[in-house]
Amino acid sequence: METNKSKIFYKQAIKLMPGGVNSPVRAFKAVGGSPIFIKKAKGSRIYDVDGNAYIDYVLSWGPMILGHSHPSVVNALKTAIENGTSFGAPTPLEIELARMIIKAYPSIEKVRMVNSGTEATMSAIRAARGFTKRDKIIKFEGCYHGHADGLLVKAGSGAATFGVPDSPGVPKSYAKNTLTLPLNNIKAFKGLIQKEWKSIACVIIEPVVGNIGCVLPIPGFLEALRKETEKYGIVLIFDEVMTGFRVSYGGAQAYYGIKPDMTCLGKVIGGGLPVGAYGGKREIMSMVAPEGPVYQAGTLSGNPLAMTAGIETLKILSRKGTYEKLEKTMQHLEEGLKDAAKKAGAKTKFYRAGTMFCTYFTDTEVVDYKTAKTSDTEKFSRFFMGMLNQGINFAPSQFEAGFISIAHTDKDIDKTIKAFFEVLSKI
Ligand SMILES: *Cc1c(COP(=O)(O)O)cnc(C)c1O
Repeated sequence: METNKSKIFYKQAIKLMPGGVNSPVRAFKAVGGSPIFIKKAKGSRIYDVDGNAYIDYVLSWGPMILGHSHPSVVNALKTAIENGTSFGAPTPLEIELARMIIKAYPSIEKVRMVNSGTEATMSAIRAARGFTKRDKIIKFEGCYHGHADGLLVKAGSGAATFGVPDSPGVPKSYAKNTLTLPLNNIKAFKGLIQKEWKSIACVIIEPVVGNIGCVLPIPGFLEALRKETEKYGIVLIFDEVMTGFRVSYGGAQAYYGIKPDMTCLGKVIGGGLPVGAYGGKREIMSMVAPEGPVYQAGTLSGNPLAMTAGIETLKILSRKGTYEKLEKTMQHLEEGLKDAAKKAGAKTKFYRAGTMFCTYFTDTEVVDYKTAKTSDTEKFSRFFMGMLNQGINFAPSQFEAGFISIAHTDKDIDKTIKAFFEVLSKI
């Protein structure tokens, strides 16, 4: 596989941007080598500047659930762009997307659009603090909720990949208001809540943790969070930026049947454009300006192009049979990967919720950050490079989830399984 042009671009990029990228994990630092530069993408495939094609399981880190450049989304955007790209005033499009979100998430009574997942979690926490008049928050080790100060404490995603879960630049005075707990440990959670509840505004969690691979909630864990937070007047926030419209149309909350007080969304609801949203109970959302005193604003929030891409995406997702099709493709992939790993004699653990998944290079059951860390990341790096060479694009880190789209065909999956077996047999 020739990647000369990518290498030339990378040399230019590292002089101009930190690490040559605008988001850390893209740099391939965790797996060695230099990143491929992308020219275009269509359906299940991305194409690099050297003309190589890859079956894509990154999907822009989740949003492209319809596959890349879906014709309906592209056409809707073409029409929208002719009408102007930003007004800084309300539009009917915002109502349409808000309605779709509220219909899909009964726990959301009112919603505010923002421009990223980071903004969504940051603003949801501010609203929860304003509502409860308490300062502290609880988060879980390895969960990534964007890069706001105070959330970069024991964080996942790139922070976990590069071993800097606690970022310099976050003042101690911020970090001290973030209490962290291990995932899936009901006893530790109850203990902390009983001791500290008077100062705790909210508990924030990825209900399926996608930022250290794919860690599922053990039975009873989310239920315990719901029960205890309710008891002590603490706001329960589900960060469904990744799981929303991904694990199921109604997200992880529909999948597991738990109703949080607030929900953060992003990724899929922007259909590949920059969007986030946070919403929840009416009395909490009524705290947000201009209805209430908690300030939060955005020049480009509710952007007409972003709303259009989101609406088109959700329209297609809400068609009958879409998630059944996704599930069938995913089952095919799951069975194939598990089978191939067994045949290759590889020590791996596979997990998934809906169409987010991860293969860990460990034989330890992964239930939290500590057990995720038992993975052999050097083996993962060899695996990643091997797959890339065969034209399969997985995330360049053990601690990221994989995704499929409605554009992934059985042929794509078969090719992936075959490559998976060959690569695992060699590394
Ligand atoms: C991606 C992600 C975020 C951050 O969203 P950005 O749009 O990258 O700011 C927050 N929470 C979770 C669970 C995510 O997966």
